[in-house]
Amino acid sequence: AARLRGVHIGFGGRGDELPVVRGVDLDLVPGRVTALVGESGSGKSLTALALMGLLPAGARVGAGSVEIDGRDTAGFTDAQWRRLRGTKVAMVFQDPMAALNPSFTVGWQIAETLRRRRGTGRRAAREQTVELMRTVGIPDAEHKYREYPHEFSGGMRQRAVIAMALTLDPAVLLADEPTTALDVTVQAQILRLLAARQADTGMAMLLVSHDLGVVARVAQDVAVMYAGRIVETGALDDVYTSPAHPYTRGLLDAVP
Ligand code: ATP
Ligand code: MG
Repeated sequence: AARLRGVHIGFGGRGDELPVVRGVDLDLVPGRVTALVGESGSGKSLTALALMGLLPAGARVGAGSVEIDGRDTAGFTDAQWRRLRGTKVAMVFQDPMAALNPSFTVGWQIAETLRRRRGTGRRAAREQTVELMRTVGIPDAEHKYREYPHEFSGGMRQRAVIAMALTLDPAVLLADEPTTALDVTVQAQILRLLAARQADTGMAMLLVSHDLGVVARVAQDVAVMYAGRIVETGALDDVYTSPAHPYTRGLLDAVP
């Protein structure tokens, strides 16, 4: 689980002067998908990155607390964040190449994550990787194992990154616009896959998206972000049927 309380994120200073994220409360609960929606620049990605200790250079969490699996991350060192990312939290970005190394085969990279992070033996890592690649819907996984990222289509690459994130069996999975670059059919497939995996494992998941139509398929809870604040939050059905904030109403009106 993860918990944000009164989180401010700013550039320069201590993160409190002219913050772009301004007092965010958010709970990621095991077994539930929470969607974080809102317009471009509202602070969704920074909020997700704060949960990974991966804020861009110059950005800092000012006031507020970021708790992951009951641990307050205030004052965490890089090494502590790395350990957390290796065990508790994983993230899928919009651009799958952000997580893939072009110089190594896809299968090797996933297997290597298993070996390094979980201490899995060489042979078992290979078997589990092929299995995971199948799970995320990569056909002919035995063969694709030996291919390089550039030999994968965009959708297959994103599946590979999801497989890599899942090797960590994370308590919290953060997905920042994981399917935005893909065509609508592939989007739906990948999101269904993530939702199924999430239901199987009981992990907590944050799905960042600006598309309410997309999140309606997979999320149970929704938080609406506007200008650095969460202006509305609750069960998806409630927010969809009776939005309280004018921005949410506008967003819903735009859903076909
Ligand atoms: P999008 O939907 O476009 O991805 P977002 O909601 O994810 O938008 P963030 O990336 O969280 O938005 O950015 C929030 C604000 O923080 C933006 O308005 C931007 O001006 C500022 N910001 C983000 N990254 C940086 C950076 N590296 N340097 C300076 N300002 C930044
Ligand atoms: Mg973003």
